[in-house]
Amino acid sequence: MKKILIIYTGGTIGMQHDKKGSLVPFDFGKVNEQVPELNNLGCKLKHHAFAKLIDSSNVTPAFWVELAQVIEKNYSKFDGFVILHGTDTMSYSASALSFMLENLAKPVIFTGSQLPLGAIRTDAKRNLISAVEIAAGKVLVPEVCIYFSHRLFRGNRSEKFNSAMFEAFQSPNCAPLANVGVNVDYNHDIIAKPSKKKLIVHTKLETALGCSDFSQVLLMLG
Ligand code: ASP
Repeated sequence: MKKILIIYTGGTIGMQHDKKGSLVPFDFGKVNEQVPELNNLGCKLKHHAFAKLIDSSNVTPAFWVELAQVIEKNYSKFDGFVILHGTDTMSYSASALSFMLENLAKPVIFTGSQLPLGAIRTDAKRNLISAVEIAAGKVLVPEVCIYFSHRLFRGNRSEKFNSAMFEAFQSPNCAPLANVGVNVDYNHDIIAKPSKKKLIVHTKLETALGCSDFSQVLLMLG
């Protein structure tokens, strides 16, 4: 039976309404009560919640380092990792992790949701269930990916393009690694092969970088 570590970092997916109606992060240790389907996926699940749960607009390089180190520490004990993360900067985190985790041989799947887990029409349950199912599945996807609304994307080829629809992510320059309908339909030709080398986790990040709007640069150059 495969072992999957679910890492909870914050974002909409883990929110629920308290008695006063305010949105607060829920006790992640009780996720199997909220989503009992997780018990029927034929894999062993463990959880790790960040001490400080954040809205993903507050993600920093230090957060990426912490996330990479949680994976490094648990790499030999688990067959795959599912990271619950806010949607706003999920593509940035997935891109960063894809470069920080060199020689990956196991799936690292980010997911989140547009509506909180406790909301009636939530997309959180199905995103979480399918992300875990893929992480624990027979087809190995040893990449940093984003699973969202029926599609599995290569993390560093994804972008959030819609904040109102359940279909919030796209990957304009790379076909989805999998499409989830009645079956999980994998795009075997483009899924990376597992590395046979030892995992290297890069944690020295250059933070003295800026990004200009290129059109403004052209204007300035006249
Ligand atoms: N602002 C939230 C975040 O990115 C939105 C979400 O989770 O979808 O953390």
